[in-house]
Amino acid sequence: MPEADRRARLLATFEADGLDGMVVSSTTNVGYLTGFTGDDSTLLLTPDRAILVSDGRYALQVAEECPDLEPSIRPIGQPMPEALGGLARRLGLARLGFEGQATTVADFRDLAEAADGVELVATKGRVESLRKIKDPTEVAAIREAIAMAERAFADLRAWLRPGVTEKAAADFLENALRRAGATAASFPPIVASGPRSALPHARPSQTAVIERDSPILIDWGASGRPYKSDLTRVVTAGKVTPDFARAYGIVLEAQRRAIAAVRPGVMARDVDAAARGVIEEAGHGADFLHSVGHGIGRDVHEAPTLRHVSEARLGPGMVVTVEPGIYLPGWGGIRIEDDVLVTESGCEVLSASAKTLDSVVL
Ligand code: ZN
Ligand code: ZN
Repeated sequence: MPEADRRARLLATFEADGLDGMVVSSTTNVGYLTGFTGDDSTLLLTPDRAILVSDGRYALQVAEECPDLEPSIRPIGQPMPEALGGLARRLGLARLGFEGQATTVADFRDLAEAADGVELVATKGRVESLRKIKDPTEVAAIREAIAMAERAFADLRAWLRPGVTEKAAADFLENALRRAGATAASFPPIVASGPRSALPHARPSQTAVIERDSPILIDWGASGRPYKSDLTRVVTAGKVTPDFARAYGIVLEAQRRAIAAVRPGVMARDVDAAARGVIEEAGHGADFLHSVGHGIGRDVHEAPTLRHVSEARLGPGMVVTVEPGIYLPGWGGIRIEDDVLVTESGCEVLSASAKTLDSVVL
């Protein structure tokens, strides 16, 4: 069971700060550590107990999905912090970690009251840090989510025509993702045409239509079981203009250089620098408005972040996006994004949608 290994890796972090228990309340992290696919449930992990605190709606599902966990079903009306505090006191815990990023101030106060006598220790990014390294089952699930996204994109390309609104194109893509096997899009797809593609996170417009001879930026991904993909391609209807070809060439080369830098031991910021160097040399340093990439997995954005100030080092098993872009107000934007697995000796680009300049015309 990969989940048992993951819990063992989390337990191994307890020694450094003397925890004798930890409450994991982020739904994503609970799923990662237990295999449970519902929500509103919290894991209380100690060196010898793994208790999933849930409620009556999930009693059967917990038994089915997590046979190796101890279920604790809250009575109707009992708030989660009260249930957790009671358990912590009954187990005689002295120092209980909780997830600072996933706990509201109100829940923290209620937990502190219910766990009177137990010292609460805020942790940050602890499970997220374990999630950076994907095991083979996770990499397989990401590959599947990429395949779904690429099938959906092929459908979109075949259908997309000038005159269609961005919103209609995004809706088509969402449906195509589901037809390709995704549970949903991994985030609301971005379809931005012409000057609107200069907004890196444009929302598809109800009224703006796909224009000829200008960039159409599409950023999309699939939510699989339950891993996600995240890709960007820029295409055009009509012909490739000289401005398009120039901007596209810069970004494609920046991406090529960044991907060539991805290998175990490299600083994440050096991958960013590889792309940024190409874009700066071309005179567009100020038009590259974001970091070069981020981890993907159960969340579409997760650790590590490949930004220019990052202290993170890449390691085998990490899956990151590489997505340089330049955004020229009044003209449009080019971003090319692929999902890349760090291997023992270098990297493997997991996504394969065409991206050469001669592939961009619809
Ligand atoms: Zn993206
Ligand atoms: Zn991305």
